Amino acid sequence: EVDRLSQLEKLQVLGHGNGGTVYKVRDKQTLAVYALKIMHGNTSGTQELDILRQTSSPHVVHCHQIFENPSGEGQILMEYMNGGTLDTYIKTQGRLSEDIIADISRQVLKGFVYMYSKNIVHRDIKPSNLLINEKMEVKIADFGVSKIMGRGLNRCSTSVGTCAYMSPERFDTERYGDYDGYAADVWSFGVTMMELYMGYYPFLSPGENPDWPTLMLAICFGELPSLPDCSSSEFKDFINCCLQKDPSKRWAASQLLLHPFVAEQCSV
Ligand code: ATP
Ligand code: MG
Repeated sequence: EVDRLSQLEKLQVLGHGNGGTVYKVRDKQTLAVYALKIMHGNTSGTQELDILRQTSSPHVVHCHQIFENPSGEGQILMEYMNGGTLDTYIKTQGRLSEDIIADISRQVLKGFVYMYSKNIVHRDIKPSNLLINEKMEVKIADFGVSKIMGRGLNRCSTSVGTCAYMSPERFDTERYGDYDGYAADVWSFGVTMMELYMGYYPFLSPGENPDWPTLMLAICFGELPSLPDCSSSEFKDFINCCLQKDPSKRWAASQLLLHPFVAEQCSV
């Protein structure tokens, strides 16, 4: 294992995050290119490594190998996604069309259905945690605050993740009670798909920069942002199904896959 690590040559830094630094690396022997996430400090307290060890789906960034040293520091060797995050993708390529968003939605929702079959909630879905490659494959990444739900009491309302993409029930547990978190991922997904279409975070006008209590109030009590009139009624309805403030009314990922906006046409 240590051999494999020393065989990797760092090419550049791909990004820094709360969880660690990600490098583009190349295997000196095979010349294959990967992404290597070097986690800062101790990884106990996160389930990221456990989750990666048990996930294998075309819609989740593939993890080739995990290196863990005795002090609990982890390094994750992943497939390299050469299109970067959807966040930088729309900043460089511009906003996306409905067709492309429908295609991305299908991939992410299939990823959700897969994760949920393994009792995993992501809890930090946002454009910068979805990666894209040249085949226009979009994959779910960064399980740094994700959780494996146990049986019985296992609530998911703790405030982890990125405030702007958090669902109303994550802030307002009094009103909605404790929710399991699967519905919260769908909310974050809805906000994310809307952002890909609009080109900016939909709860704010471009350039607006409020403090987070103001933003939280807008999410919990404000009017929902709406798509421009020129967007299709299927797309508007799809977003509406994701952005139900009441989590019990929000559609599940498996239901959303049957929505006309994303439903795959039967070719007879
Ligand atoms: P944050 O706390 O901001 O969510 P993080 O520390 O949890 O970040 P990641 O989200 O896993 O770390 O990765 C940080 C950045 O590295 C990403 O935003 C992305 O730009 C880049 N990156 C991560 N994984 C890959 C990959 N497999 N291929 C290409 N780029 C990647
Ligand atoms: Mg991230």
